[in-house]
Amino acid sequence: MSISLSDVFENEFYVLDFDGKLYFADEFDGGDDNFQRLLDREVFSKSVAREESPHIRYLTKLRIADNEPLSDAGHLSYLPNGALMIDLLKRYSTNVVLNLGAYPVVTSIMYDLGSPPIKKHASLFGQRMYKVKPGKREFVLRYAACFGQFAMLSRKYISYKDLPLRVFELADSYRYEQRGELTGLTRVRRFFMPDMHVLTKDIEMAKEEFYRLYKLILDEGRKFGWEYYSLYNIDPEFLKNNFEFIKSLVELEGKPVLIHTVESGKYYWVLNVEFHYIDSTGRPVETATVQIDVGNGERFNITYVDEDGSKKHPVILHTAIHGSLERFLFEFLEEAAKMERRGIKPRLPTWLSPIQVRIIPVNLERNLDYAIKVLENLESKMIRVDIDDRDATVGRKIKDAESFWIPYIVVIGDKEVAEEKLSVRTRDGENLVLTIEEFIGLLEKELAGYPKERLYIDKFLSKRASFV
Ligand SMILES: [Zn+2]
Repeated sequence: MSISLSDVFENEFYVLDFDGKLYFADEFDGGDDNFQRLLDREVFSKSVAREESPHIRYLTKLRIADNEPLSDAGHLSYLPNGALMIDLLKRYSTNVVLNLGAYPVVTSIMYDLGSPPIKKHASLFGQRMYKVKPGKREFVLRYAACFGQFAMLSRKYISYKDLPLRVFELADSYRYEQRGELTGLTRVRRFFMPDMHVLTKDIEMAKEEFYRLYKLILDEGRKFGWEYYSLYNIDPEFLKNNFEFIKSLVELEGKPVLIHTVESGKYYWVLNVEFHYIDSTGRPVETATVQIDVGNGERFNITYVDEDGSKKHPVILHTAIHGSLERFLFEFLEEAAKMERRGIKPRLPTWLSPIQVRIIPVNLERNLDYAIKVLENLESKMIRVDIDDRDATVGRKIKDAESFWIPYIVVIGDKEVAEEKLSVRTRDGENLVLTIEEFIGLLEKELAGYPKERLYIDKFLSKRASFV
């Protein structure tokens, strides 16, 4: 049975369905299996999956990253393929916010714990801080980009005409997570956060911008084929006073959301939405987020000059549209794990694949020159292509390329050289016969709108260091 807003109190769980009806969370029996998994974990504190997440296995198999025993736990070492993927994701997430009109910055990674706003913010964050004390002053390593951007903005002149003002940073961030919780890419102590803050005039402008970012987050997930399940951490007074706005967000979802009311006035935010991705084992993992912050404008003394000349504190949105880059990468790897579970060959999108095309000459003496010509053609279009010029059978080489999830395998024998055609085998099992121009056209269509980067490893397999 649905309830009314007068039944809403602090520190409780509720479900708001997309038709606008509100329920006590433990009385709600709608939603799909994934929503039920979120309820199980958040409301009923049930452990939803014990199985190890398959993405951990892929980190080794695809030579992406390994743990660094000489550093603290939870600090990964990215191998060349992983370094390339992280750079591609950095570029991708930066492009998304540049399209919104954001201004990228690079700020310091450490802040003085003797400064009152830092100290206050840090005390709310609790025990999960890295502290460093090189001399007399004690610093905290940033756990997101908030400090650096707020401190910078507090020193700048901002006009009401500049609002909404969006500032972005790809921030390496440090959180001293509990050792037992550290796992794969989902729980690490050093991670990269594509973190944007939006300064707005007032709560009305904040809500408009929030709606836009919320829609963008859902669209970004759907673009890659996944659906998020949302948890709203909310001040109950804000919920009651802005119920139509909240309902408009849930309409974008087209499915129920979980609501957790907090103690009124306790946090710097009034609304903090966590978007949960469901991995291949059925585990919900928080990735993207967007929040409305009503406290830090004043705490960090950030002001803008309003139309009448008066100085005011902005309402600030915090958002990570893709969550940390580690969790963004985790989502792509878990999508591959879902394919494997369904009996489909696992793969990454071509734009994110460390190697996009593998060329296999059948006879090194007769076919290598033409293979190199094809490679140079593709390279000139910033396509990541390599040549298997090792002394091994074609069957063995195809198997190796398949095991590395390379989206396109091009086999070049005497026939292809004579006809100037390419035999292209796709990851989906299609066999195509194409001219070089046709193949480039197909790749460029698939890669349009995504960042391009060259190979981070030697293009000749016979010369390449293996990093195993
Ligand atoms: Zn922030």
